[in-house]
Amino acid sequence: MGELRKDYILDRWVIIASERAKRPHQFKKEKPPEKAGHDFFAPGNESETPEEFYRVEKDGKWQIRAFPNKFPAVRQQGEANVKTDNDFYTFADAFGMHMVLVETPDDRQLWDLEVDEIKLVLEGYLAMYEKMNPDGVKYVTVFKNHKKAAGTSIVHSHSQIIAYNHVPEFVQQKVEACKKHDGCPYCKIIENEKGSDRRCFENDSFVSFTPYASRFPMEIWLFPKRHITHLKELHVDNELDQLSAMLKDILVKLKELDAPFNWVFHVAPNGDDLHFHIEILPRLATWAGFEYNGTIINIMTPENAAKYYRGEE
Ligand SMILES: [Zn+2]
Repeated sequence: MGELRKDYILDRWVIIASERAKRPHQFKKEKPPEKAGHDFFAPGNESETPEEFYRVEKDGKWQIRAFPNKFPAVRQQGEANVKTDNDFYTFADAFGMHMVLVETPDDRQLWDLEVDEIKLVLEGYLAMYEKMNPDGVKYVTVFKNHKKAAGTSIVHSHSQIIAYNHVPEFVQQKVEACKKHDGCPYCKIIENEKGSDRRCFENDSFVSFTPYASRFPMEIWLFPKRHITHLKELHVDNELDQLSAMLKDILVKLKELDAPFNWVFHVAPNGDDLHFHIEILPRLATWAGFEYNGTIINIMTPENAAKYYRGEE
């Protein structure tokens, strides 16, 4: 029997279609590697990218670079404030900054990097949160698209950061839903899930689990145990190391499936409360008409996905 499940706190529903279930390794699609073509992000081609915004060097060579996206979704010009013409037409200029962060100079993917190199990427994100903050920006979204099925055609490993004049819908929905609970619901959810059959990884400071109403096969969420609202609140020495290590554990499992994936960092908007977390969304299945009408069919149970992450499948 399939099961209709609701997200922990959102009015978002998923059908877990277990009779169509596949085993995790059946999701691995044997595809030829994606062709890299000319690599604008490689060392030596720095002049082909827009003016550098951020750089980390190791032994005199850059390890991480960030620069504006050549085709930005938002720009630092125009009117950031939202206006309404009448009941139906509400708008502003797409105001903000859009950066690309190159995660390594070489042709390894993020899942190939060492834990200390992943930490450099996270420190890059921290710098972006700090630096991408002009007046008019309401939210900074850090995300990564890995492979074509997850929305990128650029093979060189990179993340993107968009600071803009709007709080994204899912973040806003979570903030509102949390207010209806007595205390932070995610603090309780973490406590439940770290002992459930959806548990994946745990260390002193972090927990990851496959969410009860997973939308995607192998979807996994990662939370700090401590109630903090932003990546910036992590202790750089100890907690950022632990976060990097857990991300590496997850990435290694995604690599085994050669899975296209997105990851998205959910931080609290300014002045709001939201338990910081990272959603990692493998893109192993295609959404179709039913999904775009609002209910998602997921052909892998989160309980089976968790077994895979724990190495029991
Ligand atoms: Zn919390």
